[in-house]
Amino acid sequence: MFHKIIKTTTLAACLTLLAAPTNAQDLLARQAPVDKKMRAVDSIAIQKLFQAEEFEDPAAELYPNWEDDHINMYGSVELPNEYRIDLRGFCMPTTNRIVTSNYGYRPRFRRQHKGIDVNANLGDTIRAAFDGKVRVVDFQQGGYGNVVVIRHSNGLETVYGHLSRHLTKKGAALKAGDPIGLAGSTGRSTGTHLHFETRLLGEYIDPAKLFDFAAQDVTGDYYVFKGRGRGTLLGKHEAGMQTGTDTDVRYNSSESPAAKAQAQKDARQAARTRLHKVRKGETLYSIARKHGVSVDRLRRMNGLRSKSKIRPGQILKYS
Ligand SMILES: [Zn+2]
Repeated sequence: MFHKIIKTTTLAACLTLLAAPTNAQDLLARQAPVDKKMRAVDSIAIQKLFQAEEFEDPAAELYPNWEDDHINMYGSVELPNEYRIDLRGFCMPTTNRIVTSNYGYRPRFRRQHKGIDVNANLGDTIRAAFDGKVRVVDFQQGGYGNVVVIRHSNGLETVYGHLSRHLTKKGAALKAGDPIGLAGSTGRSTGTHLHFETRLLGEYIDPAKLFDFAAQDVTGDYYVFKGRGRGTLLGKHEAGMQTGTDTDVRYNSSESPAAKAQAQKDARQAARTRLHKVRKGETLYSIARKHGVSVDRLRRMNGLRSKSKIRPGQILKYS
């Protein structure tokens, strides 16, 4: 019951994505008093910075490299024994509820169907299933037709085939629910539908174990993928489903309205705090130039003396 509420909230969030992003408002220099409240604001801002990095290279801890030419690129990569995939930030790729072909062996074609086919009308908007970054945008005449592959921060890669049009580009950072294409029947397809695949490190997972198209919902808050080595194809990887428990999902249920209001205020303030993570070779001067602020101001905001050195990985405020 509890996780149901959360999922609904996530879904609602996915529908309001078109709302304008927060104003990129550059406030006047703000000193950073080291009190408890500012620390809370900073920690939210730092969290946002890490989220932005996660956008740059989603699931970097799982994937050995980034490659944007081939859908299959994980031939020799070892699968983890177990990997928990967080499904909570989902958006259904299509609002259509009718599955026309399941995942698995198709005797008629004597081949595996590595995804699920969902009914669609020509031109229906197809949306990113989770936050992530577009890895492949391609046209494959004899197969997927117009296809988009997204690598998500939860470790999954999703594949969307037979699109009539692409609406995204390689390398685009996406939020769950962002439009990525229009439904169609390009490639090897006999009618307009969405061919949808879910994979972890190239290993196919039956999308129906994650997404319930009829119910327009995910099957749980988490899905636990069990690897057991490469080469175990279809159905043999004994993937199991696990729904979130109350210990897994703590969503401020015990917070008072005042605490919630404060948290919201902090979040708004954090949204205005801009942070920069120092990379190798950067200097205060190059960082100041990059963000259009003065070196003095950078020093002031971060409590740096004129002789202080910065180091890679250090996080600096710049607005
Ligand atoms: Zn298909």
